[in-house]
Amino acid sequence: MAYEVTLIPGDGIGPEITDAACRVIDATGVEIDWRRAEAGEAVMAHYGTPLPDNVLESIRGTRIALKGPITTPVGSGFRSVNVALRKTLDLYVNLRPAISIPGVKSRYEDIDLVVVRENTEDLYAGVEHMVGDDAAESIKIITRKASERVTRFAFEYARREGRKKVTAVHKANILKYSDGLFLEAAGDVAKKYTDIEFEDRIVDNMCMQLVQKPELYDVLVLPNLYGDIVSDLCAGLVGGLGMAPGANIGDEMAVFEPVHGSAPKYAGKNKANPTATILSAVLMLGHLGEAEAAARVFEAVRAVIGEGRQVTYDLGGDAGTSDMAAAIIEKLA
Ligand code: NAD
Repeated sequence: MAYEVTLIPGDGIGPEITDAACRVIDATGVEIDWRRAEAGEAVMAHYGTPLPDNVLESIRGTRIALKGPITTPVGSGFRSVNVALRKTLDLYVNLRPAISIPGVKSRYEDIDLVVVRENTEDLYAGVEHMVGDDAAESIKIITRKASERVTRFAFEYARREGRKKVTAVHKANILKYSDGLFLEAAGDVAKKYTDIEFEDRIVDNMCMQLVQKPELYDVLVLPNLYGDIVSDLCAGLVGGLGMAPGANIGDEMAVFEPVHGSAPKYAGKNKANPTATILSAVLMLGHLGEAEAAARVFEAVRAVIGEGRQVTYDLGGDAGTSDMAAAIIEKLA
């Protein structure tokens, strides 16, 4: 029986890279009934919202979605669809593996890190207001429940994937209440996983260490804002945003999407690297229990990038998005 998956093409380069990913997944033989649902700039005028109810209903029905990036205007305009989606569907984990692929130009060749970012609270809750005309206040919300469940996910993931260490990242030396609570909750959860090492790092030191000695780290668990920033740093370690997949996971549903944004300057130009979206779809296949198909796609991506011929501009080639997808599909045959 075919899996039903909601497909949200998104804005900018989204339609091209999600199309590439769907073609690759379809070529594995895993049957997917893609339920297309439009969100973002394109539907704003029609529905008066970038996240119409029918998109949420579709995800609630299929429980799985593959999503392209969606543009969020800076400062004014609508609030982030991505943040709304994660909060509304309680997708409390943002999973972002950063794994080196041979052939990608980067400062390291052997990065193997997994960022587990809390996805529902912190400054990202967007609770902020002006105080008079010349000051603004944003409220950082950290709860024990959210901190515990994201840390539990990090440890369960580490155990399932045979990983050895979880590092909690925080700024509890300064933010003694909010980050202090996150660290305390993480430490409490860690006590139940004696088979996996636990340590903590202050976020600024963590950034320096990741640049200097990334091999010391394995699974990182972070509150939302630090997770957002540190995961882009990790993407940089493996060759940039075009290479970084992601998954938003809750107890009931999961939405898979690349870490990068809608890169409007490349929209419609068949230039964007589809790898991050294809690797997000690999995470999706794993989530569906299709481990063999997931491994085949990953190997096909590695082979195409390793050969370096049919790759996009950011990987040193001149292939288009669709050419790179076709080359990956050829390797699957
Ligand atoms: P971006 O990720 O779109 O682009 C940053 C840089 O990376 C650009 O130079 C771009 O050309 C390059 N890049 C990104 N993806 C690429 C790919 N697949 N292949 C090749 N090059 C790629 O970040 P931005 O410019 O800060 O954001 C653009 C829009 O995307 C904003 O509106 C932002 O809010 C939104 N955004 C959405 C998501 C999401 O939907 N999850 C995530 C991040 C940003």
